[in-house]
Amino acid sequence: MKQKKKMGLTTQIFIGLFLGLFVGIVFNLFVPSSYIKDTILVNGVFDVLGQGFIRLMQMLVVPLVFFSLVTGAMSMGDTKKLGKIGVKTLVFYLFTTALAITLALLLASFIKPGVGIDLTKVSQAAEANPAQAVSLKDTVLNLIPTNPIRAMSEGNMLQIIFFALLVGIILANLGEKAHNVANICEEFNDIMMDMTMIVMKFAPIGVFALITKTFATLGLSAIFSMLKYMLTVVLGLGLQLLLVYMVLLTIFAKVNPFKFLKKFFPVLGFAFSTSSSNATVPMNINKLEELGVSRKISSFTIPLGATINMDGTAIMQGVAVVFAANAYGMQLTPQNFLTVIAAATLASVGTAGIPSVGLITLSMVFNSIGLPISAIAMIMGIDRILDMIRTAINITGDAVCTVIVANSSGEEYFDKEKFNS
Ligand code: ASP
Repeated sequence: MKQKKKMGLTTQIFIGLFLGLFVGIVFNLFVPSSYIKDTILVNGVFDVLGQGFIRLMQMLVVPLVFFSLVTGAMSMGDTKKLGKIGVKTLVFYLFTTALAITLALLLASFIKPGVGIDLTKVSQAAEANPAQAVSLKDTVLNLIPTNPIRAMSEGNMLQIIFFALLVGIILANLGEKAHNVANICEEFNDIMMDMTMIVMKFAPIGVFALITKTFATLGLSAIFSMLKYMLTVVLGLGLQLLLVYMVLLTIFAKVNPFKFLKKFFPVLGFAFSTSSSNATVPMNINKLEELGVSRKISSFTIPLGATINMDGTAIMQGVAVVFAANAYGMQLTPQNFLTVIAAATLASVGTAGIPSVGLITLSMVFNSIGLPISAIAMIMGIDRILDMIRTAINITGDAVCTVIVANSSGEEYFDKEKFNS
């Protein structure tokens, strides 16, 4: 029943996308400029619907990231029980995400997906506020909020993340003593996940309006850039899967990576069709057991990974940054790149494992270097399909790290004969 509904939404979003493409191009090529077309429709109705949808998504960011991180850190607090395994898992999760985003930035800088399109025409240039150069010292100091409430009201994501992680870890340490607050945080987390689902129901209309406005303004020239963006993301995701993960498995787990991929394929398919790391958790754990990984490890690492380890999402965000910078004519400095690597790693930690959240946390990555978030509007139309592919990469990253950690923790945790059988 649930599955059916989700596919329904995906289809609707695609209909919104293609209808928007069609109407936008017809408007651009065949409808002459007039008060009704320009003021009432393109910059009126379509703009209100499109911007309205973006505002709904923005509304979710702060509470969604905060509660997702508090609950994530709460389960991470249990790492004490698992000691070394917990630390190893965390290190691998963060390392693979940073690797993924670096790969994406390099690839996108080479392909330059946003060159040839001028997004300043779609949203006012005044909105673009290039980042002020901030010294490394200030970047580090700025992680610490002097006032957590102000950090939230200003949407300062790095400070929110810092504070949320502390709250989560302390809640985990307090255990029973603070179970009321812990429960409340978990319930708020559920509320925010539900709210995301509800907001996504408006996605078909939002996507239609945004795409119509973009193509009515830019015409056919936008299609090429959009396809280039999409292909760059897919290429990055492909490299992460077929190169990075395969090399990591060979070096660190000393297993045949292709055997892994072949057996793991059904899990990829499931993640692809649900666009949800969370929904894939049980299947992932079962499959890893078939591959010889003990549940003692996977029952901890896989849910944690589904909450904090999103390599595919980080790749999309890296490419999106370069795309938007190209389209706004902004030169990215080495310092910008470092900031994006840090911000996207944290954003992927704060991304909940349900559909489309990566697009929501993308706004914090854009904010980190002063890119206008309205660029997300263009990407939004085609994000649905990318979400499916990146979710498959997200959960593969969790499984690969789990195999590596299990292998390094001894035979008790990883039965290689079972893997090879
Ligand atoms: N859908 C992704 C996941 O569940 C998150 C995202 O939107 O990037 O892993």
